Amino acid sequence: MTAPAGLTLTGLSRTFRGRGKVVEALRDVSLDCPAGSFTALIGPSGCGKSTMLRVALGLETPDAGRVTIGGQPPGSARAAGVTGVAFQDAALLPWRTVEQNVALPLEVLGRDLGPAAARIRDLLALVGLAGHERALPGELSGGMRQRVAIARALVTEPRMLFLDEPFGALDQILRRQMNIELQRIWGETGATALLVTHGIDEAIFLADRVAVMQGGPGRIVELVEVPFPRPRTPGLFAEDAFHRLEDRLAGLLHDDSAHAA
Ligand code: ADP
Ligand code: MG
Repeated sequence: MTAPAGLTLTGLSRTFRGRGKVVEALRDVSLDCPAGSFTALIGPSGCGKSTMLRVALGLETPDAGRVTIGGQPPGSARAAGVTGVAFQDAALLPWRTVEQNVALPLEVLGRDLGPAAARIRDLLALVGLAGHERALPGELSGGMRQRVAIARALVTEPRMLFLDEPFGALDQILRRQMNIELQRIWGETGATALLVTHGIDEAIFLADRVAVMQGGPGRIVELVEVPFPRPRTPGLFAEDAFHRLEDRLAGLLHDDSAHAA
């Protein structure tokens, strides 16, 4: 377990201009993710979720506002291996084995790989890929490739984990399995987590709180607490209270009156 790092986003704005088009991807977005919490971010396609994550990671510079991760600016947090990230497309290097793909962030940070070998084996066991260390990505199923991406996101022992629609390309049954796995993995790492998803059910099952975003301009319209105790079991998906919360979040997602003039 690593000591988790909290994330604070304060007054973030980011506008893209080009070819006569102006897109206000973020307008005055603030969000506080306490250390060790799990926050899900939902919102329609194009509303600014990935932009918010890229700004939080320091991969994109905001026009206004501030990001801190464990009290540091995001660039320093990334350089220190404090953050880990997995995207929808597992983006594995096809010529590298599973364990070589997982090792990549360590190489980027210039860390010594020798002592990491045992850790990489443990991580692959944690994500259910023991025995596949030497496989190539092309030999794996979509779900297995996403597990490799999650192991890679965890290899620096990040204190803050960012996940951008990591299961978006998977079918519903596999996605449910991965949700249950991710809950367990998150519990074992103890990191703060921010998950972007368009699955309301996935957001509720995994998160302590769900931030609902809308676009035009991109902003957070509501932060909803998820009251269900942990550990959560698959039976939760069938409970009335779960469906009520699902309906409430769907209402917030589709509420056009929340659009700014
Ligand atoms: P989401 O992840 O919620 O689907 P994004 O954050 O990817 O949304 O995009 C938000 C908006 O900003 C979209 O309209 C998108 O086209 C625009 N956008 C994102 N990145 C860029 C960029 N690099 N250049 C121009 N427009 C961009
Ligand atoms: Mg996106």
